[in-house]
Amino acid sequence: MNTTTAPMSAAALLRASLAAGEAQSAAYAAWKAATKLEGRYRGQVTRACNRWLNAPEYTAPAERRRLSALHDAALTRHAPYKAAERATWAELRAAISRADIADKAWRRAEFGDVDQAEQQSGAAAEPHGPGGSTTSTTPDTSAGCGAAEVEQPPATSRARRRRKPRKLPTGYLDFNPRRASLADYDVIVFNSSGGKDSQAALDYVAEQARAAGVSDRVVVLHNDLGVTDSAEPVEWPGTEELAAEQAAHYGFRFETIRRALGGLWQQLIEQRKLFPSSQARWCTSDQKSSQGLKFLTRLVRELRGRGVTGRPIRILYVLGLRAEESSGRARKPELAVDRAASNGQRTVVRWHPILTWSEQRVWRRIADSGVRYHWAYDAGMDRLSCALCVLATRADLVCASRLRPALTDDYVRAEEITGHKFKTDLSIRDIRAEAQSLGPITKIRPGEAMRRRLGYSSTALYLGRVELNRRRYTTAA
Ligand code: SF4
Repeated sequence: MNTTTAPMSAAALLRASLAAGEAQSAAYAAWKAATKLEGRYRGQVTRACNRWLNAPEYTAPAERRRLSALHDAALTRHAPYKAAERATWAELRAAISRADIADKAWRRAEFGDVDQAEQQSGAAAEPHGPGGSTTSTTPDTSAGCGAAEVEQPPATSRARRRRKPRKLPTGYLDFNPRRASLADYDVIVFNSSGGKDSQAALDYVAEQARAAGVSDRVVVLHNDLGVTDSAEPVEWPGTEELAAEQAAHYGFRFETIRRALGGLWQQLIEQRKLFPSSQARWCTSDQKSSQGLKFLTRLVRELRGRGVTGRPIRILYVLGLRAEESSGRARKPELAVDRAASNGQRTVVRWHPILTWSEQRVWRRIADSGVRYHWAYDAGMDRLSCALCVLATRADLVCASRLRPALTDDYVRAEEITGHKFKTDLSIRDIRAEAQSLGPITKIRPGEAMRRRLGYSSTALYLGRVELNRRRYTTAA
C-alpha cells in the first residue's frame, strides 16, 4: 500500500499558517485572562500571609491560629485559579509551537527559506540542552501539520534566485550547539542575580558540569547595579555577597561587573531622566546585557592568552529564566546561538536550563542543595534583583518599601527630579503611603518562604543543611 502523502500547496499551507496564528492569539488572550484572575487571588494570599507573618510578638495564640487559618483558606481559594492559569499557559506554548511549524512549512513551500541553523544541525526536532537536559519545548514536527506536509518541495530556480543567504557568525557553521556537550565549550558563564531561579539553575549547572568534568570552566557573573546618592544599594543588601557565597559553594570563579559610566540611579537621574518600563527596559540592556558582553570580550582575550587559537572561542552563556514568569520569556528557546553576541572571535550560545521549571521545582531544588537563599524571600518578596523594580507587582513594591524606607524616599525624590512617575499608572509616593500605613516589617523568620511552599519538615531539613554548610565554610576559612 502506498503510504506517501502528497505535499500540500503553498496556498493551503498559508491558510494553515494563518489559522494557527489565530489559534495562537486566542490562546494568548485566554492565558492573559487566566493570569489576571490568578493574580487577584494571589494578591489575597500575599495579604493574608503578610498579616499572619507580621502579627506582633504579643499576639494571642488564638488570634495567630485565626490568621493562619485565613492564610490557608486564601491558599485553597487560590489553588484552582493557579491550576487554570497553568493549563492555559501550556495551551499557549503548544499553540505557539503549532503556529511556528505551520509558518515554517509555508515559508519553505513559498520561498524555500529553510532556517540555516536547522539545516546545519539537522536536529531541530530532537534538541537537548548541552548538559543532557530533556526538557526542551521544541515541537515534534510529526504532529500538527504532519511531517509529510512539512517536507520541503524541490526549490525552483526562481525560488533559488530569491533566497538570500543569512548572515551567520564566523565559526558557527563548524559548531552545532544542539549536538554539543558542556565539554565542547571553552568557558561556561553563569549570570547570577542571586535570586531563587539563578540559585536553582546554578545548582543544576554545577551537577552537569561536575558530570562532564568541566567545573573549572564555570564563571559566575553578577551585575552590580550600584547605589543611590544617599548610598542606598539599588539591589537588596547582601545580594552580591550571597551570589559569591553560592559560587564558592560549588568551587566556581566569581566576578562582579559594574557599568563604568554609573549605576542605575546615576543613569536615571543624570542621563535618562525617565524610569525604565517594560517597553523600554534600558535598565536591563545598559546595566546587565551590555556589561555582560564586555565581560565576554575580556574572557576571550584571557583565553587567547592561554593558547586557545585558530577558531572562535565557544562560550555557553547560562541564565536562570523561567517561562512562567512572562509571555516574553515563554517564547525564548531553551538553547540557541546568540547571533548578535557572536562574532569572528567568539560563538556565544545561550542556555536557559530551567526554562520549563515550575516555581515549586525551583524551591525543591534549593531545599535539596542546602545552599542559603536570599533573606528578602523570607520577608515576603516574590522576586529579587532591584528592590524597587518597575516590573514588580504592587504587593512586592509595598513589601519592598516597608523593608527599605530610605531607598523608597530616594525613589520619591527621583520622581520629583525627573518629573515622571515610577510607572505610568503608579507613583512610588502612593506605594510609600501604603507601606507607611502598614508599618515597617521588623520580624523575618528564617525559612519562612520555603515553609510556605514546601511545608515544615522539608524546611527543617533544609535549615539543617544550611547550618552544616555554614560550619563547613567557617572551618575552611
Ligand atoms: S530588576 Fe527591574 S528595574 Fe532592575 S534591572 Fe531588572 S527590570 Fe530593571
